Amino acid sequence: MLSPGLRRLVLRSPDFAELGTDPCDVTAFRVSRVDYRHYTPAGLEPVDGGADLTIIVQRHGEHVADEPTPGHDLIEGWTAGDDVRVCQWSSTRAFRWHEDDSPVLLLGDATVISLATAMQRRATREGRDLLSVLEVPVEDVDAALSLVPDAVVVPAGREPGIATDAWLAENVEALRLLHAPKAYLAGHGQSIQRQRSVLCDVVGLDRRSIRTQPYWATGKAGL
Ligand SMILES: Cc1cc2nc3c(=O)[nH]c(=O)nc-3n(C[C@H](O)[C@H](O)[C@H](O)COP(=O)(O)OP(=O)(O)OC[C@H]3O[C@@H](n4cnc5c(N)ncnc54)[C@H](O)[C@@H]3O)c2cc1C
Repeated sequence: MLSPGLRRLVLRSPDFAELGTDPCDVTAFRVSRVDYRHYTPAGLEPVDGGADLTIIVQRHGEHVADEPTPGHDLIEGWTAGDDVRVCQWSSTRAFRWHEDDSPVLLLGDATVISLATAMQRRATREGRDLLSVLEVPVEDVDAALSLVPDAVVVPAGREPGIATDAWLAENVEALRLLHAPKAYLAGHGQSIQRQRSVLCDVVGLDRRSIRTQPYWATGKAGL
């Protein structure tokens, strides 16, 4: 456990030895016969006889105590040494790392720390500018900053996305100075819709330069 709301999940397998990961890759865990929950690799590190796949997981179950949270419960129930089935990870066409040299803007929440970690590593390797803005519960801010030291981490308020909306409103001019950025919006679905409108209509980004991937949404199970 990294903090009250964040958990580092490390999955080791000899089968991972030949594999790589790209930012935006997604894996899934089966929670019932027909249902899966999705998670984002933060990194893949070679170890003796295989590799370790790391995922940063938000422990959100206590926020929605009156609803079933099978993904949360599955991961919370694992202990070291358990056998776990991992789906082969990949990125979708609509949400994948741009292979060019443009600066990158990432907006997300605590579920997006894993993606931010993967992006930070790749951007550093490629010498690209990355601005990550992560909205995280106050008790998880320090842990988020130690995982993604270059990110702007804003403490979440009562409603998802409101702290990021405020950050965007205060930073319109700074965002206009980014030269043709590629923007990635992930995390809370309803917040992503608002943030995309602000980036297009207020900051002036080209809609085609914005990629979105809802990770969860108010009132919905298992995106
Ligand atoms: C492509 C993709 C990549 C993802 N990567 C990650 C990742 O790397 N790390 C990570 O932690 N999560 C990640 N998620 C989010 C994670 O899959 C969801 O939080 C998922 O809904 C958890 O499943 P559950 O069964 O616990 O809850 P569900 O059955 O899906 O939902 C039950 C209730 O919980 C609410 N809920 C779900 N998630 C949250 C949340 N985070 N905060 C508050 N309420 C919530 C829903 O609105 C619903 O009311 C990713 C999702 C997608 C689609």
